[in-house]
Amino acid sequence: MQKSNPSVDGKNFITQQIRTLALIFPLIIFVIGCSSSKEPQNLHFAKRAIDQYFTDTTLYLADVKNICAEAKSYIQKNLDPHKRNAVIFDVDETLLLNTEYIFEYNYGWTQESWGAWIDSAKAVPIQPVFELYNWIKSQGVTIFVITGRFPSLRLSNPDPTERNLLNVGYTDFKKLYLNPREPKIATSEYKLQVRKKLTEEGFNIIANFGDQESDFKGGYNGRSFKIPNPMYFTQ
Ligand SMILES: [Mg+2]
Repeated sequence: MQKSNPSVDGKNFITQQIRTLALIFPLIIFVIGCSSSKEPQNLHFAKRAIDQYFTDTTLYLADVKNICAEAKSYIQKNLDPHKRNAVIFDVDETLLLNTEYIFEYNYGWTQESWGAWIDSAKAVPIQPVFELYNWIKSQGVTIFVITGRFPSLRLSNPDPTERNLLNVGYTDFKKLYLNPREPKIATSEYKLQVRKKLTEEGFNIIANFGDQESDFKGGYNGRSFKIPNPMYFTQ
């Protein structure tokens, strides 16, 4: 019977242990890495940073202005005189700014307080979008407004959303589409249905303006232009 050389076996054993450690060590580091996390930003400071973004006119409005300039140039190049050109606008944080309500409630929200705010028709226009809207209108492009807002329960004729738009100078849109209360449908789905219907009716949608990714979901947008909104998320 052949005996193994103990010194060689010892070396093999050590080499094997080193290999095993080499395999296990990265796994240990990975597990430690997974069990620790970076603390998210404190909500108070996140809110103050957003306050600053909207109150310092060189920040939010400058961003919106850049987007509108890009959109104007794009629309100018893509107007087709042989087609029924159309542009879509969302309402909240696209045509109208609700920071008065949002700051008053410190980024909180209830259905009742939001409904009362809408009924007050006090939202203000976003200046660079307002200027772009009027330029688009001057080009003979048909403007549709599609919003996830429901029709008012208390006021109508015109609905407060329409009254708000007209009061601040957004005039001559072809139609305002409010998300019907019944049947209940996700805002993104409702908006898509309208854009699809308009396309099937023969409108050439050149551009769609919104502040949420859900404003563009499903296509039929032409080119999508997203207005900044770090305040809330809707889908
Ligand atoms: Mg919106």
